[in-house]
Amino acid sequence: MARTRHVVVGGGTAGLNAVTTIRQYDRGQSEIYWVSNEEPYARMVLPYYLKGSISETHCYTARPSRLMELGVEPFFGHRAVKLDTQANVLTLDDETEMTYDDILIATGSSAVRAPVPGADSEGVHSFWTLEQAKGVIRSVSEGSHVVMVGAGFIAFTILNSIIARGAKLTVVEIAPQILPRMIDQQGAALVERWLVDRGVDIRTSAQLSNISDSDGQKRLSFQDGEDLLADCVIMATGIRTNLGWLEGSGVEINQGILVDDHLRSNVPNVYAAGDVAEGRDLITGQAAVHAIEPTAMEHGRVAGANMAGQPQAYRGSLLMNIVEVLDLEIASFGAWNAEGAEVFSAVHEDRPAYRKLVWDGDRMIGAMILGRANDVWATNDVGMLKGLVQSGTPMGDWKGYLKNHLFEVKRAYMASGTTARLLPVTVQGRASVPASEITV
Ligand SMILES: Cc1cc2nc3c(=O)[nH]c(=O)nc-3n(C[C@H](O)[C@H](O)[C@H](O)COP(=O)(O)OP(=O)(O)OC[C@H]3O[C@@H](n4cnc5c(N)ncnc54)[C@H](O)[C@@H]3O)c2cc1C
Repeated sequence: MARTRHVVVGGGTAGLNAVTTIRQYDRGQSEIYWVSNEEPYARMVLPYYLKGSISETHCYTARPSRLMELGVEPFFGHRAVKLDTQANVLTLDDETEMTYDDILIATGSSAVRAPVPGADSEGVHSFWTLEQAKGVIRSVSEGSHVVMVGAGFIAFTILNSIIARGAKLTVVEIAPQILPRMIDQQGAALVERWLVDRGVDIRTSAQLSNISDSDGQKRLSFQDGEDLLADCVIMATGIRTNLGWLEGSGVEINQGILVDDHLRSNVPNVYAAGDVAEGRDLITGQAAVHAIEPTAMEHGRVAGANMAGQPQAYRGSLLMNIVEVLDLEIASFGAWNAEGAEVFSAVHEDRPAYRKLVWDGDRMIGAMILGRANDVWATNDVGMLKGLVQSGTPMGDWKGYLKNHLFEVKRAYMASGTTARLLPVTVQGRASVPASEITV
């Protein structure tokens, strides 16, 4: 009997987890063809590469020896250009045609630059791929002035690294506040003050209108306000899903590929995972794109199990963003900005700390937390607030307690039995297997 042929497109977190999970279940009984235009690596570690705390080698996630162990046929350095879902054929950029029994689309996203003249000129960078990270590393050095356009989550993941390289940093943001999709205005004001006190220049409500060359530097002009001169410009102005190549395939796309709770698209043998998938949001139950690492990992594992013939339903992904800048920890979870929801919030009097808890009845559906990264008290509470939102624990009287004691999460967390609710919950309904034990 012919062996089942799986094709996985995309060498990021979602693709890697799908490949490994297929092998976890079938131990080599199927063929796996893994296509990616880059050699697999984790984007999430690029900030550490920029900082110099890890080498390029540490970014890669599936070297040739590991692919041998997994019995995978790699097609790296190749781009998928067409999908024929009637004939079950994938076409690559060198015209290779690949048939499949099922296929996973995990092609992730790409950085998008602000549409201003000069945005694509030399000296203006994105920071999304390993190649782009190398470009930034070459351009940011001791004493150079870096202007970061965009103050969203991705921009914030690299702030520490730019400063650690000895550069002077200015952040410009079109919105009236920094981190507009991650924290509220009050939190943003606290973070902004923290950064300014530590030497970072910040300009909000700044609409960039042009980038030009000026004596070996870049000149940034704005609709209002003075020009800025930079040695290096990094555009962190958003991302777009890599789905253009699916045009005409019949795969249904909204913000991302619409998937059911088995990560299947409208075409039954086409799965999608990670940044490109629009799947169930754990809190709202609605379809959403969560372009974050934990979702890519969970999607990849669930899709991989289903492709391996182990039916598994996914509970949904929790929107979460956690980032630490200059020793300030910033995190938000779930429906932290749900309109019309009941909210408890407080700023701590004697430490830089802010909390916001968002409720639906006696269940916490979202949370936001800011605090010192080296403060165990804040770090523990990040985990506990995430647990409370993720578990949906009915808090009963502990809700009232939290209203009056926003900085005493531990008692409510322990007493509400949240740990006991969370412990049995696993993505795949069973304990995970160490990657080193997964071979053919
Ligand atoms: C600097 C940085 C820091 C980050 N930090 C965090 C963090 O702290 N926490 C967090 O949750 N998330 C973070 N993220 C986001 C996280 O990395 C992404 O959500 C995650 O990588 C998504 O995984 P994925 O597998 O869906 O896609 P990707 O990792 O984007 O992988 C997709 C792969 O598909 C390939 N590909 C694309 N198109 C094609 C095609 N047509 N044919 C073949 N191959 C193709 C791409 O080259 C890529 O290798 C960060 C991202 C960056 C850039």
